[in-house]
Amino acid sequence: METIDKPIAAKKRIALVAHDNRKASLIQWCEQHRAVLEQHELLGTGTTGSRIEAATGMPVEQLFSGPMGGDQQLGAKICQGEVDILIFFWDPFEPMPHDPDVKALLRIAAVWNIPVACNASSADMIIQSALMERSFSREIPDYQGYLAARKGEFAV
Ligand code: PGA
Repeated sequence: METIDKPIAAKKRIALVAHDNRKASLIQWCEQHRAVLEQHELLGTGTTGSRIEAATGMPVEQLFSGPMGGDQQLGAKICQGEVDILIFFWDPFEPMPHDPDVKALLRIAAVWNIPVACNASSADMIIQSALMERSFSREIPDYQGYLAARKGEFAV
């Protein structure tokens, strides 16, 4: 598929998700990086989002809880260009029953070329990047062009 440039803006929408055994680490990470996170917009799956908001006082838009479809809501937002960065602390010691959800979310983040961190050191590198303060260029699939080409294929 062809790609087009769709820059990520200076003010970013940062998605936060953690499995139960990783929630405490993500909350700690959010506390540690509060000064930067406060400059951006936060959203997350239901339980993760509400726990971060309660612990840090930062507003977090809360989607459904992960097992109820929150991961998939996030995936839809990534496709729609409404999520710029994904911080996803999934639990490597309890892959089941989360595996299909982990795969789906990481896959769609790869398709739409957003920065992803699955552990604290990767998240540290993203949040300390100079690109957090400015917009930067990002190649995404040219979905409209793809659709037009597909229509052509089925024209009668
Ligand atoms: P939760 O969902 O934040 O509602 O716990 C996370 C997940 O299970 O992916």
